[in-house]
Amino acid sequence: MIPARYGASRFPGKLMQDLGGKPVIVRTYEAAKATNLFDEVYVVTDSAIIFSEIELYGGNAIMSIKEHDCGSDRIAEAVENMDVDIVVNVQGDEPFTSKEGLEQVLKVFKEADADKIDLASLMTEIHDWKEISDPNCVKVIVDKDSFAMYFSRSPIPYPRDKNAAVQYYKHKGIYAFRKQALMDFYRLPMRTMEAAEKIECIRYLEYGKNIKMAISNTQGIEIDTPEDLMRANKVLKEEQKDTVNNKYRNFPMVPKVVFGQGSFDQLSSILAPQRKDKAPFIFLIDDVFKGDKTFMDRINLRFNDKLIFISAEEEPKTTQVDQIVKDIKAEFTYKPSGIIGIGGGTVLDMAKAVSIMLNNKGNAADYQGWDLVKNKAVYHVGIPTISGTGAEVSRTTVLSGPVKKLGINSDFTPFDQVILDPELTTGVPKNQWFYTGMDCFIHCVESLNGTFLNAFSQSYGEKAYDLCHEIFVEGNMDEAEARGKLMMASWHGGMSIAYSQVGVAHAMSYGLSYVLGTKHGIGNCIVFDHLEEFYPNDVVLFKQMVKKHDITIPKGLCANLSEEQINTMIDIALSLVPLWENALGDDWERIMTRERLKELYLKM
Ligand code: NAD
Ligand code: ZN
Repeated sequence: MIPARYGASRFPGKLMQDLGGKPVIVRTYEAAKATNLFDEVYVVTDSAIIFSEIELYGGNAIMSIKEHDCGSDRIAEAVENMDVDIVVNVQGDEPFTSKEGLEQVLKVFKEADADKIDLASLMTEIHDWKEISDPNCVKVIVDKDSFAMYFSRSPIPYPRDKNAAVQYYKHKGIYAFRKQALMDFYRLPMRTMEAAEKIECIRYLEYGKNIKMAISNTQGIEIDTPEDLMRANKVLKEEQKDTVNNKYRNFPMVPKVVFGQGSFDQLSSILAPQRKDKAPFIFLIDDVFKGDKTFMDRINLRFNDKLIFISAEEEPKTTQVDQIVKDIKAEFTYKPSGIIGIGGGTVLDMAKAVSIMLNNKGNAADYQGWDLVKNKAVYHVGIPTISGTGAEVSRTTVLSGPVKKLGINSDFTPFDQVILDPELTTGVPKNQWFYTGMDCFIHCVESLNGTFLNAFSQSYGEKAYDLCHEIFVEGNMDEAEARGKLMMASWHGGMSIAYSQVGVAHAMSYGLSYVLGTKHGIGNCIVFDHLEEFYPNDVVLFKQMVKKHDITIPKGLCANLSEEQINTMIDIALSLVPLWENALGDDWERIMTRERLKELYLKM
């Protein structure tokens, strides 16, 4: 039951104020319903406006017949003739009422002393003396079995001894009543303590009822003032966003990194302390190295270590990750000491995903998204053999799943160790060098021109951009130097987007890749070539680089696509909300319509 009075003394009409496009009371109703804890949810109101609003949204509303002093009376009248055991009172002005709190308050009716309980309510730990001494904050004290002893606006207990460790509790206005207790309350007159403190639930104590208190420390926002409403709107907006880039982010970085020509030879000494007796290291290696004996000899395998060659022909898939994990589990009794990925973005991402999935249940597809991974990954090492993606430093592993192309973004994704040996990139074919290098350039452009830009990402982005300029535009250095610089550009580009986001080219390139299997680097180039309206100067520069290095950017990819394919492409691109928000701001949906996207795709 959600009691809803139209005229609130402090903030009139507050329940009908707009909260993210719906009235506060509708939000509360929907939140209560969404918990799935109740057989029925009703709003009980004195207001025809609220009544019809709830009905409009397809909810249940009841008009109170009489005038009531308080919410409990309003509810009591409504349930008088209903066949119910337990009635929960959810505050109409608490649109963020949490499932956890409601669960706690209902759980007490399943415990051993349930028979003794007339009603249950919630309390929250408080620590701040300002709050403890604030008369607007109702405190509660409980006995050893968590039954309420008293509620007060005074600090209770009074801390005469400043060294006694008391925990103060604030009362939260959520109740679960046995029907009888509620009906009794309705009939019994107010007594003096309730009248003095102006706290409804004291009436129960004054009549000898037992109130069991449950603890819930999840904070809701009660809408008492217009400022609360502003805060609630902000919270809602953040909740609706993917949980990325909306706060000051606290993200992990790669804790250990070696850099330098020939540093690859340090691999076995780096791995040695990580080796657990019988547990093997699993090496995922780009199959381009399969026949390269000198290269393979540099990896000192121990007796049960395992090599798995990975083709980078296609972008990594969730099913491929699941298969590798299954094979490893089938072959070895012990969980691997670590996973070592040696290759380009494809193999590095595969290594990250496999190490995560060895410690997490289910399928890789279950974890595509932001912060869905529960357990730490097994130790994993990344060794790039081509530079540009930033996959060696990033917090994501991009996978094509059954329904989406999306990374596993998590604190457990980054490598525990990276080895940056520029020499390993020597054999990269020129076209591929350019495409993957341009991935880095585009990371910088999208980060530096995005609305999420801040000094952190800018400092990395600018450095990477300058390095790309030196390598691809000026190009007057020897190859070894260029390899080292591109490797660091990739790293810095990755760091730059870690604290901001990519933009239009990446969103559209994901669409191409999902429908046509176009690989990331080349896909970005195909798209970026047509983005002069979004990144004017950098697209001009890009075209110069294409020309200088004599690269051919494929054309006409989308010419013969079916309507359905184009639509899927558009769906995939548009689903990458944070990318668009970064590129075009909050208003992106108005700017980037389906028609506009289609027009752009058809040019490619
Ligand atoms: P890649 O790994 O797909 O490899 C491209 C080609 O280069 C392959 O044919 C590969 O065999 C070859 N190659 C790699 N190293 C070589 C070497 N030393 N000598 C000769 N050939 C070599 O290329 P990429 O551009 O590095 O990676 C693209 C992938 O990275 C995509 O799957 C993309 O989704 C992913 N990506 C991930 C992130 C991230 O943050 N996790 C960022 C950007 C891109
Ligand atoms: Zn990229």
